[in-house]
Amino acid sequence: MNLILLGPPGAGKGTQAKLLEEKHGLKQLSTGEMLRAAVAAGTAYGKQAKAVMDRGDLVSDDIVIAIIADRLNAPDVKKGFILDGFPRNTAQAEALDAMLKSKGMKLDRVIEMKVDDEALVERISGRYTCAKCGKGYHDKFEKPKKPGVCDVCGSTEFIRRADDNEKTVRDRLAIYNKQTAPLVAHYGSRGSLTKVDGMAAIADVNRRIEEVLNGV
Ligand code: AMP
Repeated sequence: MNLILLGPPGAGKGTQAKLLEEKHGLKQLSTGEMLRAAVAAGTAYGKQAKAVMDRGDLVSDDIVIAIIADRLNAPDVKKGFILDGFPRNTAQAEALDAMLKSKGMKLDRVIEMKVDDEALVERISGRYTCAKCGKGYHDKFEKPKKPGVCDVCGSTEFIRRADDNEKTVRDRLAIYNKQTAPLVAHYGSRGSLTKVDGMAAIADVNRRIEEVLNGV
């Protein structure tokens, strides 16, 4: 099964993608994670992307389209994939349509996760992860049981994304509303889009997505 999770930054796409990955063996393809890995590794396109990402702008279509084209050729997407953070504008959506067609693949469903802007700013500006195991936390909504110690692996080191501050979040939301939100019409007109309430608790959102997938 091939899916797109569409929604603004902080809607919970990554969290839900990981749950679907575990349960169904689908592969999460997060362009944001791939770009952050490229930045950390200091690759050529990582160096190019870093400043753009830090200020919350979109990295060039050529780069992200090439990354996805490459990933769709890998054997680990054969069982299915979940696109998280791609496509982010009409040019990327059209490139994806062409890519899937040329590979004889199809999209089974686009799930739009709806969350209001103020809730997103609060969610994103408080989030951080364990530097060792990647477990996600939040200053207000999900603190470690013992302050400063990861519940899962006991590490005392945590990281915050450079782009998870209020100013950048507001810029990222403005870009989402202008460039990415029109994709709701792109997929909606084909009848392949389902809206899900992303304001609900993680388990409830997951249950709702599973119901949608049962109907595919
Ligand atoms: P995310 O983890 O999806 O919030 O992405 C973090 C940042 O990576 C974004 O703010 C962009 O700078 C960049 N990025 C991720 N995916 C894309 C994409 N599909 N197109 C352009 N830039 C992207």
